[in-house]
Amino acid sequence: MGSVDFDGVGMTSQRTRGRLVQRLKDQGITDQKVLDVIRVTPRHLFLDEALSHRAYEDTALPIGHAQTISQPYIVALMTQILLSRGPLKRVLEIGTGSGYQAAILAQLVDEVYSVERIKPLLIKARSLFRQLRLRNIITSHSDGGVGWSENGLYDGIIATAAPEQVPDELLYQLAPDGLLVIPVGTGEQQELRLISRQGDTYKFEEEVIERVRFVPLLGGTSR
Ligand code: SAH
Repeated sequence: MGSVDFDGVGMTSQRTRGRLVQRLKDQGITDQKVLDVIRVTPRHLFLDEALSHRAYEDTALPIGHAQTISQPYIVALMTQILLSRGPLKRVLEIGTGSGYQAAILAQLVDEVYSVERIKPLLIKARSLFRQLRLRNIITSHSDGGVGWSENGLYDGIIATAAPEQVPDELLYQLAPDGLLVIPVGTGEQQELRLISRQGDTYKFEEEVIERVRFVPLLGGTSR
């Protein structure tokens, strides 16, 4: 597991971060490991300087290319759900974006594989992972709608962009008892779903967590 070296990046007061963590607790985030990792991860580094003063507000913010860094509550919720059945070795994230969600996961699981279709976003995120010495994040510039099948099966898959329907490819890249956390639907109509593979069968159970609003999962890649 990686751990963030926060020497020299502690520009934001502990009090500001403490307030964010308290807010997440108030909204029902109970996993202390998740709360601790959010507290030590410098979200301001994942934003453009002009927006970094808002980094510890519980809100989604633009990161360019018509994309957004997810709201901390949603990051915490999805991470908590993914970890709810025990420790995970290998996790796939679809939609690296700013890299914030991947950075959180990298401190809680052994390996994070993250794919992004917009090249400049990925380049920025990669340089942050290096700066924060998060060496267990492996990235790819590709269309995550078909998963990333070269790495074998994943204990967990998390999608941070919403398809209209769950792609079968993602289901078939889940390890036995693996979990998929994914927003599904269009526009205002999305719901966050937890899909769990039943043992080593190809049966999947589905649970709706809550209404959410993510950017759409798009096909292909862009330079
Ligand atoms: N996890 C990100 C959230 C970024 S928003 C963060 O913490 O900042 C969702 C991201 O998904 C966007 O960057 C978008 O470009 C990307 N995306 C959308 N469709 C995709 C696809 N098919 N494959 C890979 N990435 C995709």
